[in-house]
Amino acid sequence: MNEYNIMLDAKDMPDAWYNVASVIPEPLDPPLHPATHQPVTADDLGAIFPPSLIAQEMATEEWISIPGPVMDLYRLWRPSPLRRAYRLEKALGTPAKIYYKNESVSPSGSHKINTSIAQAYYNKQDGVMELTTETGAGQWGTALSIACAMLCMRCTVYMVRVSFEQKPYRRVLMETYGGIVKASPSEETDSGKAFLQKYPDTTGSLGMAISEAVEVAAKSGGLVKYSLGSVLNHVCLHQTIIGLEARKQLESVGEYPDIVIGCCGGGSNYAGISFPFVPDKVRDGKDIDFIAVEPTACPTLTRGLYAYDFGDTAEMTPLLKQYTLGHNFVPPGIHAGGLRYHGVAQTVAALTKQGVMRAVAVHQNPVFDALMLFSVTEGIVAAPESGHAVRVAIDEALKCKESGESKTILFNLSGHGHFDMTAYEAYLNKQLHDYELDQEVIDRAEECIPKL
Ligand SMILES: *Cc1c(COP(=O)(O)O)cnc(C)c1O
Repeated sequence: MNEYNIMLDAKDMPDAWYNVASVIPEPLDPPLHPATHQPVTADDLGAIFPPSLIAQEMATEEWISIPGPVMDLYRLWRPSPLRRAYRLEKALGTPAKIYYKNESVSPSGSHKINTSIAQAYYNKQDGVMELTTETGAGQWGTALSIACAMLCMRCTVYMVRVSFEQKPYRRVLMETYGGIVKASPSEETDSGKAFLQKYPDTTGSLGMAISEAVEVAAKSGGLVKYSLGSVLNHVCLHQTIIGLEARKQLESVGEYPDIVIGCCGGGSNYAGISFPFVPDKVRDGKDIDFIAVEPTACPTLTRGLYAYDFGDTAEMTPLLKQYTLGHNFVPPGIHAGGLRYHGVAQTVAALTKQGVMRAVAVHQNPVFDALMLFSVTEGIVAAPESGHAVRVAIDEALKCKESGESKTILFNLSGHGHFDMTAYEAYLNKQLHDYELDQEVIDRAEECIPKL
C-alpha cells in the first residue's frame, strides 16, 4: 500500500516564519520613496500600513514567531497535506518522485489566507478596523474577506474588471464572507476616474486596482489600512509556513528535494515553498534547483528588466528593485489572473538575479494539458495559476525519464480551480490562445520604468 498523503500533527506545526532577508548573499537595495527617490522610512509606510507589519517588512532576524491567535486560526486547515503524486508519476512513467504541498484545502481555496489572517491580526492589534485591497482572480479578495470576517473587521475589495466579469461567483463568495466588492477601475476614487477617462474600455489590471485601494487607505486619515496579497517581504514571510511544513513532512519520510517549483505572479506562494530551503543552498552548498514558473503572456522574471519600479499604475507605491515589465504593462487576458502582474517580490528577484533561483515561462495550452492529466491522476481540479507549477513539475519528471534519474521534485499546489470553469471550458473547446509577446511590445512597456 502506498501512503499518498504525508500528514503533520497539529502539535508539530512550525511556530515561527522564516525570513529569507537574513540569508540573501548580496544585501537588498532599499525601497525608495515614489516622489523623493530617497529610501522610504517607517513613517512613509505608516500612511497605508500598520506599525507591526512595517517592522516585519524591514526585519532582518532569521525567525519571526507566529502569534498564538494566528496559530489557532491556521489550525482550521493546517498543517496542509503533502501528497506523493504516485498516480501522476505512473502516468508519466518517470523514475522521479513527485511531491506537492496541497494549499487548495484552505477555507479560501488557495495559499493566500496564510498571510491574510496574519495581516488582519496585526492590523487589529494596531487598532485598525478596516482594510482595503485589490484582487485579480478573486483569490486574494476572498482570503482577506474571510480573515476580516474572522477578526470582526471591515473589508473593501477592488476587483480587476475582467475578473469581475469572468468570475461572478468569486464576487459572491467575497460578499458571503462580508467583503464589499467594486469593479476596478471604479468611479469611486480619483485614480479610478482618471484610468477610466484615459482608457474607457480597459479590462483593468492589478496595477490599477492597487492604486485605488492604496488611495482609499492613504486618504482615510489612518482609519483604513491597505493590505497586499503578494510581493512584499512580510507577505512572503507569512507564506513560509508552506515550505517549513513541507520540509518536516519530507523529513518524516526520509526525503529532501532536488527541485523546488512554484508558479510565480507576485512571488508569494513560490517564496512560501522555496525560501525555507534557500539557506541550505546559500550557506551549506546544497544543490537545489529552484524554479519559478510564469506565463509567457506576462514574463516578468524571464524577460523583464532588473530595475527600480512602482508596484502600481498610478505611481503611488514605493519604488522596489525587482524584475519588471513596466508598471503600465497590461498583459493579455490569460485565465491565470493571479499571474498577470508586471513585477515580482524583491526577494525572489534578488535571488534570481544572484543565481540562487531560476525562472521559466510557459504557454497556457500546455499548462492546461498538464492540468487535465493532473485532474484525472490526482483527482484535483487545480487553479490555472497552479497549473504552471504542475506543467514544469511534469517537464522535470519527463527529463528524469530521459536521463533515468530519480530526482525528488517538490512543487506547491497553490489553489483549486473550482471557480475557473470558464477557463477549463475554453480549453476544452480549443479556444485558449497562447501569447508570445513581441520584443517591441516589451520594450514599449518598459519605457515607463523610471531611470534612476
Ligand atoms: C494569487 C495566486 C497565485 C499568484 O500569486 P503569488 O503571490 O505569486 O503566489 C498563484 N496561485 C493561486 C491559486 C493564486 O490565487
